[in-house]
Amino acid sequence: MLQEVHVGHKSLADYQSVVVPPLIDEIREIARELEGARVLHINATSFGGGVAEILYTLVPLMRDVGLETDWRVIMAAQEYYESTKVIHNALQGNPIGLTDAQKETYELHNKIAAESLGGGFDFIIIHDPQPVMIRHFAGDLGAKWIWRCHIDTSTPNQTVAEYLTPYISGYDTALFTLNDYVFQDLDMPIRVISPAIDPLSTKNMALSPEDADYVVSQFGIEPDRPLMLQISRFDPWKDPLGVIDAYRIVKEKYASVRLALVGSMATDDPEGWTFFTKTVEHAGDDSDILILTNLNNVGNLEVNAFQSRADLIIQKSIREGFGLTISEALWKAKPTVGGNVGGIPSQLEDGLTGFLVSSPEECAKRCIKILEDPPGAKVMGRRGKEHVRAHYLTPRLLRDYLKMFIELKGAG
Ligand code: UDP
Repeated sequence: MLQEVHVGHKSLADYQSVVVPPLIDEIREIARELEGARVLHINATSFGGGVAEILYTLVPLMRDVGLETDWRVIMAAQEYYESTKVIHNALQGNPIGLTDAQKETYELHNKIAAESLGGGFDFIIIHDPQPVMIRHFAGDLGAKWIWRCHIDTSTPNQTVAEYLTPYISGYDTALFTLNDYVFQDLDMPIRVISPAIDPLSTKNMALSPEDADYVVSQFGIEPDRPLMLQISRFDPWKDPLGVIDAYRIVKEKYASVRLALVGSMATDDPEGWTFFTKTVEHAGDDSDILILTNLNNVGNLEVNAFQSRADLIIQKSIREGFGLTISEALWKAKPTVGGNVGGIPSQLEDGLTGFLVSSPEECAKRCIKILEDPPGAKVMGRRGKEHVRAHYLTPRLLRDYLKMFIELKGAG
């Protein structure tokens, strides 16, 4: 079934002086043509991970510019999330496919969700593969249907991609983060739109160094020791084990360095706890490695404080649809080291706005370079921040969605 997610109020006017100047006026002009349009977003979780993060800002901003916008999540049995995790992993390249029983569960819960949908929408946006079959079971309901893929589907497991392709083809358009992610046999209108972060959210608002120090001190982080940080779900694609390996190399040179790994447990990610345990085991008895989850009360403010306090931020992914954590790190003007995969290089230009790496050794080398040269690292972080301001803040994402709605409306 589908459950409504309640979001707070946000006002586009508040973003006026944070984003590049003409953007807000441009949005208002486009939005006039869409006044009163009814929009529905559907995804699999309202907590944990990038999609929920985006929708908590995008949905209220769509409302603020005059679109009647709702957000619903699929609520289903645990087996459904197990099947959708197989699909998620397979689309990111994992060779393990779905069993017949998993297909049955997946289809059943999409069908149940479709039956509870009801009509009355102009645009329905389905995020990621979990709810993708809703379009098939619901029929078109008089709406334009958009499939928004957030993950790295550049080298998908072909069997799973072929299983889903006929269902995706029923949409009016598919939205990807990069051109490279478009599946081979997808013969339909395709668009490429990058995600974005909310500069005014609790996670990204400016926090003074004193406040950041105060917050992280409650987790045992001392003010005078270098801090390396990765914020991400406990997921093999995020490579927290590789981050620990890199930290160990850095520690040979900087004995006082600490590593914090902060990862939330998304409700649609049943693998999280298993991989969390693996990460804890890999860290062993090194008390300079701090591993925290949202269950330790690390919410948005605490994530912000860790990012604001860190001396450098890592996102050493080996697959990454976009990686909001990169934009979040750069927005705090932090020297950032990212895996050279997926959406990370569009945010991090190697040597200019951060460093791109492909192994723990390379990651360690870049971290040492940052720790050796704080002024150089600062320049890089500031450049990164301006890059995010120009390209990866939510008002730009809102504008791209509105433009797409107008094009789809015009397409009849
Ligand atoms: N996140 C968080 N707490 C955590 C771990 C992650 O709030 O403990 C947030 C992170 O700040 C980012 C989002 O979850 O906003 C992750 O998005 P990203 O695109 O980096 O990766 P995804 O989880 O969608 O693969």
